[in-house]
Amino acid sequence: MNYQNISLPEGGSKITIENDNLVVPDNPILGYVEGDGIGHDITQASLRVWDAAIEKAYAGKRKVHWCELFMGEKAAGVYDGDYFPAETLDAMKDLLVSIKGPLTTPIGGGFRSLNVSLRQELDLYACIRPVKYFEGVPSPMIRPEEVDIVIFRENTEDVYCGIEYEAGSAENEKLAKFLREEMGAEFFEGAGLGIKPISAIGTKRLVRKAIQHAIDQNLANVTFVHKGNIMKFTEGAFRNWAYEVGKEEFGEVTITEDELWDDYDGKQPEGKIVLKDRIADIMFQLLQLRPAEFDVLATSNLNGDYLSDAAAAEVGGIGIAPGANIADHIAVFEATHGTAPKYTNQNKVNPSSLMLSGVMMLEYIGWQEAADLIHAVYPQVIADKTVTYDFARLMDNATTVSTSEFADKLIEKIQAA
Ligand code: NAP
Repeated sequence: MNYQNISLPEGGSKITIENDNLVVPDNPILGYVEGDGIGHDITQASLRVWDAAIEKAYAGKRKVHWCELFMGEKAAGVYDGDYFPAETLDAMKDLLVSIKGPLTTPIGGGFRSLNVSLRQELDLYACIRPVKYFEGVPSPMIRPEEVDIVIFRENTEDVYCGIEYEAGSAENEKLAKFLREEMGAEFFEGAGLGIKPISAIGTKRLVRKAIQHAIDQNLANVTFVHKGNIMKFTEGAFRNWAYEVGKEEFGEVTITEDELWDDYDGKQPEGKIVLKDRIADIMFQLLQLRPAEFDVLATSNLNGDYLSDAAAAEVGGIGIAPGANIADHIAVFEATHGTAPKYTNQNKVNPSSLMLSGVMMLEYIGWQEAADLIHAVYPQVIADKTVTYDFARLMDNATTVSTSEFADKLIEKIQAA
């Protein structure tokens, strides 16, 4: 593929797909988008940490060839005002695996969120957020070490489809008339109207990934989170379709919570994953009171949005929470926080969210040793209390370091490991 403003690094090879599996060479080209605001600082710091871990783990036998891609404000400079260049989407499809910093959603002018557009254009249907505690990270929980959950949030449908009609608009009046006169619906005059599509296709492909993750990682349970008691044909259907996937596609390795009690007296049999479901509001409470009971959550889009940030707050907040948006093969890893514009180019903020998203990326391409190294040294740096301002203000006697110094500390530990 010929690119206008993207240069594929020499010496790197593209990741490919064979028989539905990623084939990762020892010199893969991975894409990265710096992002806006604090994106430059956290990306440059993280690139150094990933490279140091890879060098240490594989002693030069493996090396990532990074390829800069453009989206957001930097793209507008390179592509003559275009914040969302088609070429970047093409490269993300072509390279298969990339990582991005946060992007500003320009205000006014009818811009859609670039993040939402990216998920929809590349059909990145699973948003994956591991929520895990690292010792020493400031947490409001009494036993934060019990939090070790991976959230699979459906990323493409639900109220995020943007099917909304403003109160007073001609479209709204037309739809309201249809709903009242032909469907017998009752609601206040002048209500804004929105549509919430949730499909079997969208639900099943998400749940399939969540259960497969539990199998791959040898985890005990998958919980379907929904609000089916109120929204029966969307949220309730999500729950029903989720159980269908469990039974029809993973019946050999899964049992439901009912079966656990009816057939096994509540004792989880070896080699079986328990599938259960919880109403979304109760799930928020359980996340705080009994997080140890949950390994994987599979949720519809809006519930997952709320739950991901609430869960992240238990283990240090969105400044540290990593994330990924994944389709069948294309994966875009990302910092989960925004651009924090007031800190732009101040070399101040916490790079952990992006850096740990990169660790997920290393795991995704099968470079587990490099990922493990970063996971191993991260708590050591936190234990030394050499942390960025956001953690320092929550700790006693911490030394505040800059973004790049925090990366230096991690690299020192990696090299000494
Ligand atoms: P934000 O950028 O996430 O920042 C909110 C606050 O969170 C910051 O002021 C800071 O708190 C803290 N924070 C965020 N990242 C941090 C980090 N790496 N280290 C330490 N603290 C961090 O949210 P926002 O101000 O609502 O949004 C700003 C822009 O980001 C908007 O244009 C929005 O559209 C965009 N956004 C993008 C994404 C994405 O690309 N995925 C996600 C969300 C928002 P203190 O002020 O307390 O220090």
